[in-house]
Amino acid sequence: MRREHPVFWIILVRTLQASGVAGAVHLLTGWPLTGPHALGLFLTPALCLYFIFVFVAPWSWGLPILNRLETDQKVAVLTFDDGPSETTAAILDCLREHKAQAVFFVLGESVEHFPDLIRRMHGEGHTIGIHAWHHQTFVGLGRRHIGEEVRQTQEALSLACPAALPAVWLRPPHGFKSLQALWFAWAEGMTLVAWSDDSRDYADADPESIARRVLQKLRPGAILLLHDGPDNRATVDAVPLILNSLRERDFSCVPLERDS
Ligand SMILES: [Zn+2]
Repeated sequence: MRREHPVFWIILVRTLQASGVAGAVHLLTGWPLTGPHALGLFLTPALCLYFIFVFVAPWSWGLPILNRLETDQKVAVLTFDDGPSETTAAILDCLREHKAQAVFFVLGESVEHFPDLIRRMHGEGHTIGIHAWHHQTFVGLGRRHIGEEVRQTQEALSLACPAALPAVWLRPPHGFKSLQALWFAWAEGMTLVAWSDDSRDYADADPESIARRVLQKLRPGAILLLHDGPDNRATVDAVPLILNSLRERDFSCVPLERDS
C-alpha cells in the first residue's frame, strides 16, 4: 500500500520534528512566534502536507484523481504501467483467455516501437491511458513540459491506433501527483489515476508473492498496480494467478470509464 511507503514516515517524522523544535525554542527562549518566524512555522507543516499529498496520500479531495472506484460491486481494475514491451503480448494472451479487461498506461517511446500491441489492446477492449513519454518524473516539471510529454504520447497513439484516442487517463511516473500535473490534467479534462493496491512487481521476481501482495487487501473498486515493462517478466506469470484468484472471489476486471 502506498500509505506504508517510507516517504510517508520520513515526511511525518520531519514535520513533527520541525514543529517540535520550533515549539521548544519558543518555550525555552521566548523567541516570538510572529512575523517571519510564524510564517516559517506554518509553512513547514503546509509544505509537508503538500509533499505527503504528492508522493503518498490516497486522498482525492475532490480533485481529478482516481484512487479506487466508488462501488460496492465486486469489481477491480487491473492496471499495467511502463509498456508496451516484450512482456505485453503474453499478458494480453492471458487477459483474453480469462475474458478480463485491463488498463495500460503506456510510454510514448514504447508506443512507437510496438504499435501492433496498441492496436491489439484497443481491439480487445482494454483501456489505454498515458504514463509519460520517457518515464521522467513530473515532479519539478512545469505544466508546459508535462503537456509536451502527454501530447507527444498522444501523437504516437494517434499514429498507432487513432481509435484509441482520446486518452483521458493519466498516471504520472511513480504516481507522483504534483500540483503542475494536477493543474494540467484539470485543464485538459484528464483524470490522474493512482492505485489502491501495489503489487511491487518492480521489486519482486516471485509471481506468487506478487499475486498474494496485490490481493491481500482486496476490496470492491480496487485499482491494482502492475507493470508490463521489459524487466517485468515475473508479472507475466503473476497475472494468471491474480485472475484465477479474482475469479474465485467472484471479482470481475473492468476497464475505466469516464463516469468511474
Ligand atoms: Zn512507471
